[in-house]
Amino acid sequence: MSAPSTPVRIRPSVASLPSYVPGARPGSQEVAKLSSNELPFAVQAPVLAALTEAAAGVNRYPEMTGQTLVEALASLHGLSPEQVVVGNGSVALIQHLLDTVCEPGDEVVMPWRSFEAYPICAAVAGAEPVTVPLTQAARHDVPAMIAAVTPRTRAVLACTPNNPTGPALSRAELRGLVEGVPGHVVVLVDEAYLDFVTDSRVGDALGLLEHHPNLVVARTFSKAHALAGMRVGYLMGEPGLIGAVRSVSTPFGVGLPSQAAALAALAPQARAETARRSAAVAAERDRVVAALRADGWEVPDAQGNFFWLGVGGRAEDLAAHFAGAGLLVRPFRNEGVRVSVGTPAENDRVLAAAAAYPHRGAV
Ligand SMILES: *Cc1c(COP(=O)(O)O)cnc(C)c1O
Repeated sequence: MSAPSTPVRIRPSVASLPSYVPGARPGSQEVAKLSSNELPFAVQAPVLAALTEAAAGVNRYPEMTGQTLVEALASLHGLSPEQVVVGNGSVALIQHLLDTVCEPGDEVVMPWRSFEAYPICAAVAGAEPVTVPLTQAARHDVPAMIAAVTPRTRAVLACTPNNPTGPALSRAELRGLVEGVPGHVVVLVDEAYLDFVTDSRVGDALGLLEHHPNLVVARTFSKAHALAGMRVGYLMGEPGLIGAVRSVSTPFGVGLPSQAAALAALAPQARAETARRSAAVAAERDRVVAALRADGWEVPDAQGNFFWLGVGGRAEDLAAHFAGAGLLVRPFRNEGVRVSVGTPAENDRVLAAAAAYPHRGAV
């Protein structure tokens, strides 16, 4: 909400924005921060060395469009550099993309509950968020999303795995979505948590880019790469659309140490370590979810580094219960609680606290 004290006229669509709620921050060492889906491991040593070295040179501007990083990402994914744009976190790029295609009164179709930044980005772009409820299994309802497209729709958003509920789109669902949306409407597939996916049926939108020039894939260094604090994300798509996004993007939008850190994270050894860590996190996730289900909790399929407890009206009560055990989690009022996968010791504390909670399952 806007500050009530300003004499300046604020755009009504901005004045009425819900504020983005960041995950709670711990006040002491004993508190486990499981509220923002961060990796529970420190930044890798070679990545830290690269960003520290780069920090010594910050009297100079970084590369304006992060060309070296763009080229490294393009080569990693088998694309041309014109198909990649980097930005100050993928959320900034989602905003830039919607700013690129939306005019006042246009519509942006999105699953709901999903990433809370989506309706904010749509509204900031002057567009109307059109939310499509998830299915009973907390999955995207692809036919309903396609049916929600109108002549005013400029973009359809998908989040796979879905934050905060956990399920990911299957290959067939992804293809159905991309093929079902008209070619002049952008389909943005946000794959922030793709590294943690273990279900082999889950699709990767990158393979669909070739035949769908309206498709854009978003990735980030914030999650599996353990670089949330550096703020680097990227979009991949058709050169004309990506070029338009680049022209909307903040010049020099990714800082010098951030570019260096992201580049270092793409080195083969760093990527191998990231894959190893992601697999360890996914194994912990599966262990915790299985134990919770055995204990009577209803947990939707979890393919990211987090899981969802859909306790409805008890969300804030459950979050307070976890907080009492020194565990910071993320409540969504009247919907549920999202818990990030932490270290094995932290996850054991989650299981103990969950076992001590008297009200199980969905409401
Ligand atoms: C965490 C997250 C991101 C990453 O955002 P950054 O701005 O790159 O840190 C993107 N999408 C979703 C759904 C997320 O949960």
